[in-house]
Amino acid sequence: MTSPRIEVDLTKIRHNTQAVVGRLKERGIGVTGVTKAVCGHPAIAQAMLDGGCVGLAEARVSNVQRLRTAGMTGSITLIRTPMLSQVDGVVQLCEASYNTEIVVIAGLAAAAIRKKIVHDIFLVVEMGDLREGILPKNLDSIAQQVVNMPGVALKGIAANFACLSGIAPTAAKMAALSSLSTEIEGLCGPYVETVSGGNSANLPWALGKQPIGHVNNLRLGEAILLGVDPITGEQIDGMYTDAFALIAEVIETDAEPTPPPIALVSPDLAKLRLVSNDAGARRLILAIGQQDTDIQGLTMPPGTTLIGATSDHLVVGTNQSALRVGTEMRFRMNYKALMRAMAAPDIQTELRDDRNPRRSPSRIKAKHLALI
Ligand SMILES: *Cc1c(COP(=O)(O)O)cnc(C)c1O
Repeated sequence: MTSPRIEVDLTKIRHNTQAVVGRLKERGIGVTGVTKAVCGHPAIAQAMLDGGCVGLAEARVSNVQRLRTAGMTGSITLIRTPMLSQVDGVVQLCEASYNTEIVVIAGLAAAAIRKKIVHDIFLVVEMGDLREGILPKNLDSIAQQVVNMPGVALKGIAANFACLSGIAPTAAKMAALSSLSTEIEGLCGPYVETVSGGNSANLPWALGKQPIGHVNNLRLGEAILLGVDPITGEQIDGMYTDAFALIAEVIETDAEPTPPPIALVSPDLAKLRLVSNDAGARRLILAIGQQDTDIQGLTMPPGTTLIGATSDHLVVGTNQSALRVGTEMRFRMNYKALMRAMAAPDIQTELRDDRNPRRSPSRIKAKHLALI
């Protein structure tokens, strides 16, 4: 087996999907599986579909291409507003796309007409995250233009929370999104089929007691893949948090950490130094670095502490004497670490698929979310 590598347990991804899909179904909400953090990995996408996702969503056309090349024929929605230079690829590969710019929608419409198809449009509404979106006051006029434009059809509206500014979705904001859909229906005539309320950060709202209004879809990546609530970082009850593991190999061990006799130039380095002196009796170097993943997003195994990392080296302190040159160490990744590691050319992905898992997820009682 090569290292570094990512081990992916498809059974756990399927289980997580089933758990969240089942609970949201009771609330009338369907789940679209978001594959961008795994670069559109076809087997992981398939596990999401097998777990009950109604479709897939991707941020990059190159990842959609990967899914299509692997033979995936189901519905894929592009959830980053398309580049004007990519409209032909978008209508060819994706049933639908998220949009905020009328000039791009016109480009998609022209491309769809050239291919004699109709491309579905979601209008993204800015509800406070300040990353992307149409201001609510401009939504009516843009929706009307889309409804009147040949080559495209207005499929729904969507909002996104807690991405750029960390604004969590509130019941009031979700109610505002619902009434926007009613407003468009009144104005444009056609029924707004899908109201997509947001991402994994919406789960506490969606599984809560408040009415969900017209929201009938969520787009979930992190909750399914990592089993955690992105805002608190806590495990969602009944979900696996270890569907992914990053494995790296020890290439050097030192008996004693010897602080360099030079003055440290930055307070950040001084902090790292302090950690290193407490980190245990030995220092290990592993063959993985910032070029491969977000090192800060790795959870160190028990008995080890992060000392620091460079582009290609990870330095940890340990009190475990069994770790030698050639030993493999396993790390859990957060979302950022996962998405970088999945995209790293030097990291192989190894899939596991046990159709009958014996161990159910450890029942740590989650404070905010209870799925089962
Ligand atoms: C990334 C993304 C999602 C999925 O977010 P998670 O936190 O992984 O659930 C949903 N919608 C949009 C627009 C996104 O960019």
